[in-house]
Amino acid sequence: MTGLATARRLPPAGYRIFEKSRGPGGRLASKRIEQQRADIGAQFFTVRDPRFQALVELAHSAGAVQPWKPRMGTFQSSIPVDSPDTQRRFVGAPYMNALGRFLTQSVRIESQTRIDTIRRDGSGFILTTTAGTEYSAEQVLVTTPVDQMADLLAQFEIAPIVTQFTMEPTWTTVVSSGQQLTTRMREPIDACFGGDHDVFDFISVERSKPGRDSDLIVVQASPEWSKVHLERESDWVAQTIATELTNTFGIAAEPVLAHRWRYARPTDPKMTTQKGIYQVDTGLWIAGDYLAGGRVEGAYLAGFEAAERLS
Ligand SMILES: Cc1cc2nc3c(=O)[nH]c(=O)nc-3n(C[C@H](O)[C@H](O)[C@H](O)COP(=O)(O)OP(=O)(O)OC[C@H]3O[C@@H](n4cnc5c(N)ncnc54)[C@H](O)[C@@H]3O)c2cc1C
Repeated sequence: MTGLATARRLPPAGYRIFEKSRGPGGRLASKRIEQQRADIGAQFFTVRDPRFQALVELAHSAGAVQPWKPRMGTFQSSIPVDSPDTQRRFVGAPYMNALGRFLTQSVRIESQTRIDTIRRDGSGFILTTTAGTEYSAEQVLVTTPVDQMADLLAQFEIAPIVTQFTMEPTWTTVVSSGQQLTTRMREPIDACFGGDHDVFDFISVERSKPGRDSDLIVVQASPEWSKVHLERESDWVAQTIATELTNTFGIAAEPVLAHRWRYARPTDPKMTTQKGIYQVDTGLWIAGDYLAGGRVEGAYLAGFEAAERLS
């Protein structure tokens, strides 16, 4: 999101974007599961800033974004209770990765190209891919999560950022269940914040999102639980989370998959740099959600601002 937001504001001939994965969008991710699909990264996003609002309206008119109005719950003393709110939430349509795809309509992206190192070369830089190809650049913006940024910029002075802006992992589990999630009082819910629950951070029912019709439920484990079980096998995680869901909601839940995000969200979303960007050296910038509060909107605004510095 950060890199794409930057590129949208730069003249097309003036930049190259390198992306290690096959598709665009990073943590705005969805995964195909047999004939179905589920969001496995960000579950929704909110909109506060008019600049992000403008993008969301454009994406909505193109059908790539839809409002999502889940019946919300939360956990109190580890028991699910209802928690209605008036927050406006949005999701990608048909799935979250649609927002990344929408943003790439107007930018050129070089996918499956992983940058391995970045080093200074006179007044510019040399970027080397893992395949050994070198690219020279006058200016560089790195928009990976903080730990991956540290690997790329090992030759630069980034210690102050790396020690202050740490990120937490998240295990995301997808289960299948034909049954409705309900609160203790049997009110139906479509999504549930973790509240004071030890294991759950956020739960969402895929079929409550517009245009989706599956029996998949996505469960994000709390950062604390995810840290303790970070190196476990994904099958163990999927089974353990499915059992926890069954015990908590009294529903049958079949484990489908578990995905480990080593760098999911910033440890302290309140800690930010000015405008979500930071200048490491002359012509060398970093930007991303981890400097901007850890949300999709923050990532977009950081990219929007980064474009000002690079132009
Ligand atoms: C499980 C989970 C749940 C979340 N829930 C929410 C939510 O409900 N609401 C919300 O607003 N936000 C949520 N977020 C956070 C949101 O997804 C992020 O804030 C936002 O997507 C970050 O965008 P970004 O561009 O800064 O980083 P990323 O999306 O991480 O993009 C970085 C990109 O860099 C690429 N890359 C990394 N290393 C290299 C390399 N060496 N060479 C080339 N490319 C590289 C990656 O493949 C990736 O595409 C969630 C995140 C996770 C993981």
